Amino acid sequence: MEKKYDHKIQEPEIQKKWEEKGIFTGKIDKNKKPFTIVLPPPNANGKLHTGHVLMLAIEDILIRWKKMQGYSTLWVPGTDHAGFETQVVFERHLKEKGKSRFDYDRDSLYKEIWDFVQENKGVIESQIKSMGPGLDWTRYTFTLDDKVVDTVYETFQRMVEEGMVYRDDYIVNYCPKCGTTFADLELRHVTRKDPLYYMKYGPFVVATTRPETKFGDTAVAVHPNDERYKEYIGKEIEVEGLNGNLKLKVIGDTFVDPKFGTGVVKVTPAHDKNDYEAGRRHSLEIKSVIGLDGKLNENTGPYVGLSVEEGRKKVVEDLQRKGLMIKIDYDYEHTVSVCYKGGHDIEPTVLPNWFIKVENFKKPALDVVINKEVKIYPRWREITYVKWMEEMRDWPISRQVVWGIRIPAWYSVEENPSIQVTFLNKKKERITGKVSDLIKKYSFSEIEEGLQSLIAPKNAKSIISKARPNGNYLQETDTFDTWFSSGHWPLVTLGYPNSDDFHYFYPTSVMETGWEIIRFWVSRMIMFGIYLTGKPPFSDVYLHGLVRAIDGKKMSKSLGNVIDPLDYVSEYGADALRMGLISGTANGKDFAFPRDKVVAYRNFANKLWNMARFILLLMENNEVVEYKEGNDKNITDVDKEIIQKLRSLIYGVNNSLEKFRFSDASDLIYQFMWHEVADNYIEYVKTREDKGVALGVLKYVFTTGLKVLHPFMPFVTEAIWSNIETNGLLIENRWPE
Ligand SMILES: [Zn+2]
Repeated sequence: MEKKYDHKIQEPEIQKKWEEKGIFTGKIDKNKKPFTIVLPPPNANGKLHTGHVLMLAIEDILIRWKKMQGYSTLWVPGTDHAGFETQVVFERHLKEKGKSRFDYDRDSLYKEIWDFVQENKGVIESQIKSMGPGLDWTRYTFTLDDKVVDTVYETFQRMVEEGMVYRDDYIVNYCPKCGTTFADLELRHVTRKDPLYYMKYGPFVVATTRPETKFGDTAVAVHPNDERYKEYIGKEIEVEGLNGNLKLKVIGDTFVDPKFGTGVVKVTPAHDKNDYEAGRRHSLEIKSVIGLDGKLNENTGPYVGLSVEEGRKKVVEDLQRKGLMIKIDYDYEHTVSVCYKGGHDIEPTVLPNWFIKVENFKKPALDVVINKEVKIYPRWREITYVKWMEEMRDWPISRQVVWGIRIPAWYSVEENPSIQVTFLNKKKERITGKVSDLIKKYSFSEIEEGLQSLIAPKNAKSIISKARPNGNYLQETDTFDTWFSSGHWPLVTLGYPNSDDFHYFYPTSVMETGWEIIRFWVSRMIMFGIYLTGKPPFSDVYLHGLVRAIDGKKMSKSLGNVIDPLDYVSEYGADALRMGLISGTANGKDFAFPRDKVVAYRNFANKLWNMARFILLLMENNEVVEYKEGNDKNITDVDKEIIQKLRSLIYGVNNSLEKFRFSDASDLIYQFMWHEVADNYIEYVKTREDKGVALGVLKYVFTTGLKVLHPFMPFVTEAIWSNIETNGLLIENRWPE
């Protein structure tokens, strides 16, 4: 046995031994009970962060523990295409080459991103492997694999047939100058001065920077606790307008800042994000007044056809003439969103979107948690889930992103002449317009081949099909919300609907993930699992806390406090990092990165190594009287006591792990090995005359302790085992009863 434990040499070697023996390849064994976990897929294009390490450590503990208990375990790895995030990274890469996504047609752009991700995804995979997790890489899945796309398409088709899908307006960041939408991350926020207009609104005065959108107002809002206006809430007011009078409801909603302007705001759900959300909460009408061309539309009466700037000027003049403009504050500073591409003002606009009706879809997913068919740990997180499910409204599932699963809806250009298309013509010029106009100038195939995006009206006719229908059909350019496809994760990773794996390993056992995605992801997996198979996809959910920086703040690049876990692996070893994080978890709460603990567990690994060396030294000089459980002849009361403590350790660790109290479990085994065995019992063994008997007990206690410690610190325990024992790898041994 080497004098010192060197994790840099041992960890990769042991990892290789597990791999070569196929230890973690899932096997269908009808004589065993399955225990299955699917790994929440990290971004294929990303880097390992501390949250991943915590997730890997927890899931690995469960897998090793259950495997040693005799279950047929399977832990399926995968990576995520991370739709929008990846597209943004790719665009930065394009920018370095002096290009942008607007230089490509949709299909070419997709292929470029695909290649880019393939080149990069090896990084995260090898980083995951360096943590020693018992994943079955023969069953690896990427979220854009054909099998995933096929399953998602089948589900969508079924939902359409069952009347669960409809099209309705949804608010997006639209740039009329670029003719496209931008995701929140693609916006720049600039501070500038614009006039703030105080307009008379029935009994109120409202302040706004956008008087030209008043034709789209469908309510006015006040803060529910604002004493000045409380009596008006729920009542209707009449507002003298420029295009006839408006009747508007007064709503009370906490999104209103009572200190802004007069504390009364107009609500324009079609052209403001906050107003849109308020509109959904209060079931307000959505009235669009600005078209995709950036001009005021027919809902503005005499102002139709004016640009937003012209319209604003004219509206202000007309309001002043009618005496409805109370005052103008020319010194108002505010933040506006502009597109990253050209710095143009973003026009929040409602565009037709695909929606899923959730009322019947979500109910069973709420019921299984309430009746404990699916148990959530820590228990106090259950409230988040229940509340979210109760409040969940219909789900908008389309995204204006190329990098994702394209919605399989096809529009006939003859039947839908008003579709707006943007495409690159043969000269690579970017053309935007109504398809019925463009088709006079360009051939259908030129439009289709160069297609970048399309916007089909709400009532457009479409065919849902994986294959292209015959005729002049354009496919929807929106992709599914990633949660729509990742909601299928436990199904697609196991070969739903008909594979042997699926029949044996589904439903899975535990879903372990960060608490911040319980609403987006966990709920969707339960919904799809029940919808497609009648069974929830897992019986237990464990939600780990967020790993914060050493100073307790959230890690962020701008604060410069991001911890690279690989630095710690290299300095202290994967075992030490894993154990440090586990014992710092506070059983599911957020916690600061426990640097001191990582150091302490590096020391612990060295301590274990030295203990093993001491035992080996004794074994060289003494005949071991092997100790067998239950055979208490010849042993002393102190021997009996340490064996008793070992039994309570096993009981305690099992009990804690069953309750997902990883921190408690890791503390128990640490205390036992260091304080009970090393500090006390070994010292006692040194004093014994009957060394062989004492050594037998020590060896038994130590190797049993190694088994219990193995799921937590797999490398050092496996390395020690191979020096002391001859019966295979430690991970192949049975968990102590
Ligand atoms: Zn723009």
